[in-house]
Amino acid sequence: MRILVLGGAGYIGSHTVLQLVRAGEEVIVADNLSTGHIEAVPKEVIFYKGDIHDKAFLDDLFKAEHIDAVIHFAAFSLVGESVVKPLKYYDNNLCGTKVLLESMVEHGVDKIVFSSTAATYGEPENIPILETDRTLPTNPYGETKLAMEKMFYWTSLAHGLRYVSLRYFNACGADSTGSIGEAHDPESHLIPLILQVPNGRRESIAIFGTDYDTPDGTCIRDYIHVTDLAQAHILAVKYLANGNASDVFNLGNGVGYSVREVIETARKVTGHPIPAVESERRAGDPARLVASSEKARKVLGWNPCHDSLEEIISDAWNWHKNHPNVFGK
Ligand code: UDP
Repeated sequence: MRILVLGGAGYIGSHTVLQLVRAGEEVIVADNLSTGHIEAVPKEVIFYKGDIHDKAFLDDLFKAEHIDAVIHFAAFSLVGESVVKPLKYYDNNLCGTKVLLESMVEHGVDKIVFSSTAATYGEPENIPILETDRTLPTNPYGETKLAMEKMFYWTSLAHGLRYVSLRYFNACGADSTGSIGEAHDPESHLIPLILQVPNGRRESIAIFGTDYDTPDGTCIRDYIHVTDLAQAHILAVKYLANGNASDVFNLGNGVGYSVREVIETARKVTGHPIPAVESERRAGDPARLVASSEKARKVLGWNPCHDSLEEIISDAWNWHKNHPNVFGK
């Protein structure tokens, strides 16, 4: 199969590209490199620099390459930024995806797997969260991802395209070789921020809120290894290639860890004391977000196997300690 990975130079995109290459698939990557890193794209794949808003770019690409399926990661993903700059998120995540869909329909490319998010649920009604639970996003990031899902739904009905939407919980970790990993600028995610302490880039880690209704008072999240996420994308492409219907799947471990537990595990893995400072709650953080991924396991045959927090943090640390200032810098 020839698979086009849009946003394949980003964090989850580059790990998926690597897994596809290892599985012997033909991979074409396109990325505008606004947040991605060219160093994260394996040398053996065909790379196009371009933007999904650019219809001529996409048309030329679909004409030049015979694409069987698209995996779409080309979106902005920072919750905090989306609140401050909502239109940036509507423009990229929705307007860009609209152009992509137009081009796919025109060129008869009829299968797409794309990144959605736990942020589509907002404050959860039940734990663990099921795909059928209420979706009520509390920020523009989640709102644009939910709107993308709906755009795919209506486009699929009108034009026969089929899609899989993957709602990720907390993506983390790095490829076990340590060759690629997480590299956001600015960084806002818990595990890479914690690892900046043993890396000598920050003095301490702030714990955002210690008065939540959880056993140790800190927020609980479902941390899922990026390599397991990458595997789910490959299974989703195969699911569509086998003629199955469009659907939505949660991707998480089904196990929640508190902020304190994550910090404690990082201390164990790195051997560094990692001082923690108790701080105010961060706006918009639900106390608990834990996925039910039973559907992905049953329907896609997904079997996340890097599911211990210690392995996740060890792999992340293996990457961060060797790349303290990200890719070769
Ligand atoms: N968090 C924290 N200190 C930080 C960054 C994050 O206590 O410096 C907490 C945050 O409030 C949340 C959890 O860690 O409860 C995971 O946050 P992250 O931003 O990694 O992912 P999110 O759950 O927001 O997608």
